[in-house]
Amino acid sequence: MKVQAWVAEDITPPTATTFELIRCPACTQVHFVNRVDGKLLGDKS
Ligand SMILES: [Zn+2]
Repeated sequence: MKVQAWVAEDITPPTATTFELIRCPACTQVHFVNRVDGKLLGDKS
C-alpha cells in the first residue's frame, strides 16, 4: 500500500510558488507571471 506523505512545505498555495509578481514597465502596474510557461495570470489569449 502506497502512503502519501504530506509535509508543511507541500501545502503552500500553488500561486505562491508558480507565479512571480513583476512590475510591468509598460503600464507601471504589477502582474503575476507564471514561472512555468511565462504567461500572465488571467491572460486569456
Ligand atoms: Zn502591464
